[in-house]
Amino acid sequence: MTKNLIFTSIFFFISILNSFADELNIYSHRQPFLINPFLEAFTNKTGIKTNVVYSTKGLAQRIQAEGENSPADLVLTVDIARLFVYEDKNLLAKIDSKILNNNIPAHLKSPDNTWFALSKRSRVIVADKDRVDINQIKRIEDLANEKWKGKICSRPGSHVYNRALMASLIAANGEEEAEKWGRSFVENLARRPQGNDRAQVKAIFEGQCDIAIINNYYFGKLKFSEDKTQREWVKNLELIFPNQGKGDRGSHINISGGGVVKFSKNKKQAIALLEFLTSEEAQKLYGKINFEYPVNPRISATQELISWGEFREDKLPIIKIAELAYKAQVIIDKVRW
Ligand code: FE
Repeated sequence: MTKNLIFTSIFFFISILNSFADELNIYSHRQPFLINPFLEAFTNKTGIKTNVVYSTKGLAQRIQAEGENSPADLVLTVDIARLFVYEDKNLLAKIDSKILNNNIPAHLKSPDNTWFALSKRSRVIVADKDRVDINQIKRIEDLANEKWKGKICSRPGSHVYNRALMASLIAANGEEEAEKWGRSFVENLARRPQGNDRAQVKAIFEGQCDIAIINNYYFGKLKFSEDKTQREWVKNLELIFPNQGKGDRGSHINISGGGVVKFSKNKKQAIALLEFLTSEEAQKLYGKINFEYPVNPRISATQELISWGEFREDKLPIIKIAELAYKAQVIIDKVRW
């Protein structure tokens, strides 16, 4: 009887340990429809279950407030500056993983191995094929040319996507040139900056302007939208990867990424998920689900993405975009973008 009780207790104890070990709590700024397919594949492969807390903002503050008691194991987000906030608040663990080091190029992860890019998106130019001579637009800098006066639509400059783009211009050309560009760009706008990336495409379709800057995946989302009208929006659109010329720096990119929470009780499992997200299976999913590019240099982009034209990315260490975010915002305010 006593023996039985001991065995039962040991069994019970081990199953509690197991149940802890096989679950992973994710705090995510990425939308559920985007990450669920990845998590299902991960659970099928490893047996590790995942719980997701999804929120568009406030998760870093929440982890900070929870401190050592935080149930969070892993954070997933988009935009390098947002990711950098977690490092800045000292919320991430340093990870030593051969797989991550092997699958993610140095310019796409934190120098001290706290955060890692998992996919790339390019900020591209779209223009109406009939109303714009697209050979006249080769670089993001070209959008400052006065010949585009009244032709460009844009979402507000202070959105993270545009702030990151401005940071890339500071990195490439210096603050003074970046400000000059911003001033001329804003003078070329057809209307007050408003709406999201999709709204700019709609405005081109409606003839309010001819040119816009969007993240590449919105082109795919609209092209394959369930909504027939949205599919119409992109029919006459040309997608231009800027700064592709010989010797030019390449097209500005941003990332989605993640990191393991410093006080995570399931670090091993959290690292396993990060590693899985850089594997061939997951890297291909980013392209299929959301028209994003793989970070793993051994994995090629989807056929659909390749069909949009080959693009060379700006290899600027992505951390620079976060470091220059404040200066970028100062310029954006000055030029009233
Ligand atoms: Fe987006």
